[in-house]
Amino acid sequence: MERQYDLVIIGAGPAGLSAALYGSRAGLKTLILENGAPGGKLIKTNKISNYPGVKEIEGTQLAMDMFEQATSFQAEYAYGEVNKIDENKDVYLSDGSVVNGKAIILATGTKERLLNIPGEKENLGHGVSFCAVCDGAFFRDKDVVVIGGGNSALEESIYLAGLARSVTIVIRRDVFRAEEHIQSQIEENEKIHVIKKHIPVQILSSEGKVSGIELENVDTHEKQVIECSGIFPYVGQDPNTDCVQDLGVLNERGYVLVDANCQTKIPGIYAAGDVIDKELRQVVTACNDGAIAAQHAFHTIKGI
Ligand code: NAP
Repeated sequence: MERQYDLVIIGAGPAGLSAALYGSRAGLKTLILENGAPGGKLIKTNKISNYPGVKEIEGTQLAMDMFEQATSFQAEYAYGEVNKIDENKDVYLSDGSVVNGKAIILATGTKERLLNIPGEKENLGHGVSFCAVCDGAFFRDKDVVVIGGGNSALEESIYLAGLARSVTIVIRRDVFRAEEHIQSQIEENEKIHVIKKHIPVQILSSEGKVSGIELENVDTHEKQVIECSGIFPYVGQDPNTDCVQDLGVLNERGYVLVDANCQTKIPGIYAAGDVIDKELRQVVTACNDGAIAAQHAFHTIKGI
């Protein structure tokens, strides 16, 4: 890693990798910093079937393809945990090093929201998992519970139903948040059951492993226990924006506010993908943001 780059991209999900592709292809000296594996949420997603031109692909494969393409024009890729970005576009890493970009693109995405109930943290890795694709195989022919009614919860339930004996989805309202076509697949799947109008109260364990979950009816407050070996909370996401807390670029929910060029109010500091304040969080919209940010950064840096 050197001290100075044209473009420093933080995060190697679809937004960051698209930004790297556009930036490096345009000739910008580009660095991608990532503190995990490249691909972002793609590597935790079983199948992607709404990325135009690709009928259906495994998330890990699309991640690999994007990474190879993004780094094929000399974009540098490095492990790096970013603690802070300042107004001068200096990027401070946890190992003490500092890099500067003429432009910075924050593409750090979101992290899974916790249920924050007793038994959750204690049983992480012992039956509680936030990644069906990573851990689903441990629950072959077992009973699992998925919490949440969004796209993530329902898509991952369909994946889990291919492995588990049964999947019980628990939602707190009587309607799902997920898209209609995913709901139809849930209704058609005999292994999937839905419990509506219940919230999780505590996760139960026995001999160091999850044994069940206690639920409460939101109307009657009656409680019931569902016996299960696995629990997958998919109750939404929160943005990874700790490193820009001091810049005054966040909305009240912690997402980054950007203009139509994906630029924050600080010239040269951009954000792209799930981390920005927007309606539609998809692979295709993340790629869109990354391309727009990198292209605008290119024009600004080159003065054209
Ligand atoms: P989401 O859409 O925000 O859904 C979260 C779900 O969890 C909702 O059903 C919500 O219930 C429920 N919930 C929240 N807090 C809860 C709590 N404390 N206890 C019980 N239930 C709780 O989150 P997501 O599914 O992770 O999706 C995030 C974004 O990524 C969305 O924009 C989504 O469209 C997108 N995404 C898209 C795809 C795709 O296009 N194929 C796939 C995955 C994700 P309420 O509905 O009652 O609020």
